[in-house]
Amino acid sequence: MSALQSVSRKDHAPGAYDVVVVGAGFAGMYMLHRLRGLGLTVRVYEQGGDVGGTWYWNRYPGARCDVESMQYSYSFSDELQQQWNWSERYAPQPEILRYANHVADRFNLRRDIQLNTRVDRAAFDESANSWSVTMSDGKTVIAKYVVLATGCLSNARMPDIKGLSDFKGRVYHTGHWPHERIDFTGLRVAVIGTGSSGIQSVPVIAEQASHLTVFQRTANFSIPARNAPLTEEERQAFRAKYPEIRRFAREVARNGIYTEMPDRGALDDGDNERRAKYEQRWARGGLTFMSVYNNLGLDKAANDTAANFVREKIAEIVRDPQTAKLLQPNNHPIGSKRICIDTDYFATFNRPNVTLVDIRSNPIEEILPNAVRAGGKDYEIDALVLATGFDAMTGSVAKIDIRGRHGQTLNQKWAEGPKTYLGLMSAGFPNLFIITGPGSPSVLSNMIVSIEQHVDWISDCLAFMRDRGFEAMEAEREAEEKWVAHVNEVAHTTLYPQANSWYMGANIPDKPQIFMPYIGGVGVYRQICNGVAAKGYEGFVMIAAEQAQRVATS
Ligand SMILES: Cc1cc2nc3c(=O)[nH]c(=O)nc-3n(C[C@H](O)[C@H](O)[C@H](O)COP(=O)(O)OP(=O)(O)OC[C@H]3O[C@@H](n4cnc5c(N)ncnc54)[C@H](O)[C@@H]3O)c2cc1C
Repeated sequence: MSALQSVSRKDHAPGAYDVVVVGAGFAGMYMLHRLRGLGLTVRVYEQGGDVGGTWYWNRYPGARCDVESMQYSYSFSDELQQQWNWSERYAPQPEILRYANHVADRFNLRRDIQLNTRVDRAAFDESANSWSVTMSDGKTVIAKYVVLATGCLSNARMPDIKGLSDFKGRVYHTGHWPHERIDFTGLRVAVIGTGSSGIQSVPVIAEQASHLTVFQRTANFSIPARNAPLTEEERQAFRAKYPEIRRFAREVARNGIYTEMPDRGALDDGDNERRAKYEQRWARGGLTFMSVYNNLGLDKAANDTAANFVREKIAEIVRDPQTAKLLQPNNHPIGSKRICIDTDYFATFNRPNVTLVDIRSNPIEEILPNAVRAGGKDYEIDALVLATGFDAMTGSVAKIDIRGRHGQTLNQKWAEGPKTYLGLMSAGFPNLFIITGPGSPSVLSNMIVSIEQHVDWISDCLAFMRDRGFEAMEAEREAEEKWVAHVNEVAHTTLYPQANSWYMGANIPDKPQIFMPYIGGVGVYRQICNGVAAKGYEGFVMIAAEQAQRVATS
């Protein structure tokens, strides 16, 4: 009997589990569900006060998904996807959070989830081939495996601005929004940051505030969402096609979204035809704007046609030419930073109570008790909203003190950038899995598609190990090096590395600038992962108990 089987028994030792899962967002919840299905003992630790991850923390006004809800949802349970009623094309945050809670209740997940508990430390014990996991409440448990379901956008980035702590009004971070309703009526509000969260929140805050000042460092491309209520007919039409939609999203699509696959490049069409196609996608709204043509992410001249189209649209919408110019992105190819999806973002700058401040030419100098000082001018405010994003992909992992073989920390190993094999494991850290980690398609995709793929792969892998009596598993260094080189090589065949984006770690001072996600596409990536599994987990070392003992002492 393998060690895994021995700890899987109902009478497992108190404080000992087959698997500890860190995080109870969509990844952690589905991981728990699958592992339970294998009969394993699992404990999930979540630092937040409830399940839902992203949708628990990001409660800012206007927060909603930008992948359509009928697709931004679990596919693992047909009953669930047939029964859940999404109310809008892009559900608002409270509804997505309700969905997460519904899933937790429906699959009876809560009894294995410990809330309000941070995982602070995880150390691999080479003699026992298990992890010792220490929580914020000081308790330590033992687990054969640890799965990091810590999220790619879960470590809110607080900007380092002089005087911030002296500000007299309330300060909010979009990624850490309070639970009570915040009413900005009659207040002078500043929003710092114009990424996705800024772009979603600005139009809503502008409706409440007496005056809103938006501080923009980088203008971003944004496409209208064209959000609308979903009718019962639309939902039914989608549900009837779910088998095909989900198959396509998993196996064919690059980004995990069901949409037409373009068969031609932007320069294959004449000006009029190309413009008509862009107009049609602009009118339809949403992320599929970028899949009008098959070379927008690859060829700068092709990309320019789409970028120019959006810049023209901004100039048409925004009445003041100077403001329009500032809102037109000019320092990165369209799509090379996460493209935003908005409702009336650009039109909001036509309101008399909204001011745009370009902090590239007028940097923020300091926050005063009642104002933001930028470019020598004081903008008086009562409340400050930081829409400054996240330490993406690695931020939440780096906050945990993770020690692998020979006491090496993951932070030491990743000092020059994250190194993983398939984004799933890192050499020197046996039995530690990462969901949607760097080196996998992750944030470049419909995340629920990528989450389900990783969870299924990890679950199948643990079943494989159990059935064959393996005790430990680890990425081979050579396989990891090849994968890291491949991820990098594929990234550099595209326009993505040309932008100072959070995909590159560019929003965090001193973070190594490496394109972190795998851009080869979710369909291709899935095939690679399945191929690796079919070859007996090629590139991974799997060791039985006695061998593991030898490795540990060598
Ligand atoms: C505003 C916003 C909108 C988004 N919209 C979309 C969208 O439309 N489509 C899309 O595909 N993706 C979107 N995303 C990305 C989104 O993060 C993923 O879709 C998905 O929700 C990630 O789920 P997860 O479980 O992997 O991570 P998360 O939802 O981030 O959950 C991770 C959890 O781990 C917990 N955690 C982290 N570290 C620890 C620790 N040390 N101890 C205990 N708990 C810990 C966190 O508290 C968090 O609750 C959006 C992200 C944001 C911020």
